[in-house]
Amino acid sequence: MVSIRPLPIPTPNSEPFWNGLANHQVNLQQCNDCRAWVFYPRSHCNGCLSPNLTWRKVAGNGTLYTYTVARRPTAPQFIDETPQLIAVVELNEGVRLNSVMVNVLPEALFIGMPVKPVFHQQDSATLLYFEPA
Ligand SMILES: [Zn+2]
Repeated sequence: MVSIRPLPIPTPNSEPFWNGLANHQVNLQQCNDCRAWVFYPRSHCNGCLSPNLTWRKVAGNGTLYTYTVARRPTAPQFIDETPQLIAVVELNEGVRLNSVMVNVLPEALFIGMPVKPVFHQQDSATLLYFEPA
């Protein structure tokens, strides 16, 4: 049986992020007033509440902030993806995002590991995964 995986549904706020991934680039919002980087995508800066945010292309490099090795499927759609290396990555800009580590053995993961982006095509969506840098 083939299960359809859940895919992101872009909103007006998040569409530039997803469109960037489709073009194999990482776009983040930056506040024009306090210069803070903002993630997840939103309408106002979470540092100073300014609505003056600009999308900027970043390298997408960072470090592994924390992770867990899911040895059982996290949902029926992920039964073919075990162990799943669920990660929180801190980009060099300071924002953290939930993702998955690929191209690495679970035993090789460590907190603080330098990582770089992997643009993973899943059906109609491009997802942001990470691998060791
Ligand atoms: Zn701000």
